[in-house]
Amino acid sequence: MTRRLAALLRDLAATPRGDAPVLSIYLDWSVDGSGRRPSLAALDQRLASCSADLEERGPRRDSFEADRSRLDAYLDAEVPLDARGLVIFACAATQLWVSIPLLVTVETAVACDTAPHLFQLARIIEEHETYLLALAEGQEAQIYILSPERMEQVDSTAAREEVHRVQVGGWSQLRYQRHTGFVLQLHMNDLAAAMQEAVERHDARHIVILTNDAMKGHLRQALPPQLRDLLVEIAPFDRGVGPEALFSSLEPVREEVERNDEMALIGRLEDQLATKGGLALGGEQAVTTALLKGQVDTLLISYAYGGAGGECPSCGALRVGQRQRCPFDGSELVPVELREAMVLHTLRQGGAVEIIGIEGALEPHGGVAALLRFRDDIQSEVGGKFVGDGIA
Ligand SMILES: [Zn+2]
Repeated sequence: MTRRLAALLRDLAATPRGDAPVLSIYLDWSVDGSGRRPSLAALDQRLASCSADLEERGPRRDSFEADRSRLDAYLDAEVPLDARGLVIFACAATQLWVSIPLLVTVETAVACDTAPHLFQLARIIEEHETYLLALAEGQEAQIYILSPERMEQVDSTAAREEVHRVQVGGWSQLRYQRHTGFVLQLHMNDLAAAMQEAVERHDARHIVILTNDAMKGHLRQALPPQLRDLLVEIAPFDRGVGPEALFSSLEPVREEVERNDEMALIGRLEDQLATKGGLALGGEQAVTTALLKGQVDTLLISYAYGGAGGECPSCGALRVGQRQRCPFDGSELVPVELREAMVLHTLRQGGAVEIIGIEGALEPHGGVAALLRFRDDIQSEVGGKFVGDGIA
């Protein structure tokens, strides 16, 4: 994942729920056949309904209107031409304004709430991990980085001397070939070193190498184990194809990698659930209780999950369903989308969020499950030792 987006996710999750409206805007920035952006109509509609829910005057209205003008100005004039998706968070009252143009499309969604909606951001980060792509030829090689935010060449390497394909003949030919092999191996060693540096600098999670048959052996020999572990594919290099087309051609590889990661996680979940005393729980009720106790290490949540709940503004307790009052302190609960609230609470506790795209994978658990840091089998009871996690 890109470090910047991951840091943003953490920062936004850490912001306490306030009173002012926070706009969370995800826009598919693509254009339809008639040159319009369908997401803009959806945005207008949603903002109109947010506006209708706000009081006529007051600081909440002021904050919303300020956000709306800034948003209009940004969408009119500031969006980069190559953007295919946009993510925006705005709340003038708390001086929050984040706009992120993306090179990947996102599903349009707009929310006005008192906390940012982060499910979609978590999904973007997860579906578009950073890749390093190396185009390796004997004489020259280029290193590209692809993340949801950018695609660029970050480094290049070249053989230390020119390799000619001349016929010298006899013993000289053999010696020449040996020398050529040596030069190429040196180049691949240099390339591997440059790749290592780029992986670290850009936090790349996977590597794809495009090369020709003659270089494969040299390159494999040059790659240190830590780079070999990240390698998902070595494919033939087609000189005529530009980097952009190369990256789109990698889409199936990326999808497969993401799917395998998810399968491994589901496997871990099922193993833990099947083990007596295992560190996992399934179902919204159990996960909500685990969040209350700070047990959640990784939240697994499906695209389709959509429960409703309430959050206590005093102690932070999250409750499933439409209840009126906090069982711990009697405060009136704020209605929340459980999907968003669970993501927020997990991140605030330092846990990880994994959005599961494999259809039906979390169905036995109603769409949500968790891997735990520790077990705690004492029931959370009203008046007992547990109250909310204090992070509302
Ligand atoms: Zn409470």
